[in-house]
Amino acid sequence: MTAMIVGLTGGIGSGKSTIANLFGNLSVPIIDADIVAREVVAKGSPLLTKIVAHFGKAMLTPEGELNRPALRQRVFQSEEEKTWLNALLHPTIREAMFHQLRAIQAPYVLWVVPLLIENQLTPFCQRVLVVDVEPEIQFTRALARDNSQSETIKNIMNSQVDSDTRLRYADDVIENNKPLNENLDALTQQVTALHQQYLTLSQYYSKKEEK
Ligand code: ATP
Repeated sequence: MTAMIVGLTGGIGSGKSTIANLFGNLSVPIIDADIVAREVVAKGSPLLTKIVAHFGKAMLTPEGELNRPALRQRVFQSEEEKTWLNALLHPTIREAMFHQLRAIQAPYVLWVVPLLIENQLTPFCQRVLVVDVEPEIQFTRALARDNSQSETIKNIMNSQVDSDTRLRYADDVIENNKPLNENLDALTQQVTALHQQYLTLSQYYSKKEEK
């Protein structure tokens, strides 16, 4: 039996990790695309070796880990290098994610993917949950968290689908505009209600799978 897949998505800084943690509190298994993307280039991995062979030793920290800012800088400067890197990483990340998804033994799994829609991954989900937030709030939160240039955050936001497009794919929506200190209880309640709904839906899903 494979677990029902609930895809959780939303733009940069929308609150995906915050919401995923609330599902985690209910013992829902979580597979996070960002974590998988880090695992595949871990110290000593074949992919990290290929990155260093292509871009040079400057891609490594003194500890032998991937020097992310250095790599980001290289691909930021060149569309061609970015395409090369994506072609190298994406198939392995995809395979690793599907491998992990298939291994889950639970009624459902929360699959956290920032670019679920952009990378056309919604067909793999039985349910799509979108965290929606107003662009100004999203920008402010992402800026505060990442310590990045405002230009960088704006570029990332522009490279992602807009809220209206994302919402067209949504089966369920969590609106995350209010500050957490005012809204944590309401969000927790909403997550608990969705959890119940997903548990019920997963029964139909597992019956369909058996056929
Ligand atoms: P990314 O995809 O960019 O990693 P994300 O969608 O996972 O982001 P979070 O990391 O959950 O988003 O949230 C972004 C930042 O905003 C974090 O610093 C988080 O603590 C904060 N944040 C999230 N939701 C709220 C909220 N309702 N009120 C205040 N701060 C919030």
